[in-house]
Amino acid sequence: MNEREQELAQLNEEVRTCPLCPLAKTRTNAVPGEGPIDAEIMLIGEAPGFHEDKQGRPFVGQSGRFLEELLRSAGLSREQVYITNVVKCRPPENRDPAPREIAACAPYLDRQLAIIDPKIVITLGRHSMARYFPGQSISKIHGKPKRDGDRVIFPMFHPAAGLRSAEVAALIREDMLKVPALLEELRASAATTPEPVPDEGPQQLSLF
Ligand code: SF4
Repeated sequence: MNEREQELAQLNEEVRTCPLCPLAKTRTNAVPGEGPIDAEIMLIGEAPGFHEDKQGRPFVGQSGRFLEELLRSAGLSREQVYITNVVKCRPPENRDPAPREIAACAPYLDRQLAIIDPKIVITLGRHSMARYFPGQSISKIHGKPKRDGDRVIFPMFHPAAGLRSAEVAALIREDMLKVPALLEELRASAATTPEPVPDEGPQQLSLF
């Protein structure tokens, strides 16, 4: 195991035994996240649900099946992306995570981002979107990639919202289809840019 793999394994262990917020008392299993350590894409959802809490894995219920279908439609697979959530333990009755729970859990997400260092972060739903776009509305900014240093943040609706509304499902499908071209653009830009791109604040990419 190399140093990064050890760091990620250590992080996962800390999450599984974490006592830092009240969700520790009601969870069955914490859900750190899963995927390859060198994933170019990280998806960040909201919180584990019933099935995720039982299995200790992210997006394994109906939303997960829809997410896998969306990835396939864009020529991607679940095995090539890293999937995690803003909070790693299930809020009782699937309520929204509370601000203090999000704040307590944020350092784990910070560390996952630092270790995996994805080119694209896809935020799924408003809680993960709020980390990068505070005060914005998902219905206005979904599908619009923004630079964040040398990374790109791509906000999307949560797959669960697509299961509740055919209209939202169509928007999610449309947005996911933009991801491969975005990834190609970032790969090309990395290949021709010797130094990291300086952070000049959010900016529109050429493709969108
Ligand atoms: S939600 Fe996060 S901070 Fe709260 S107990 Fe779980 S791992 Fe710890």
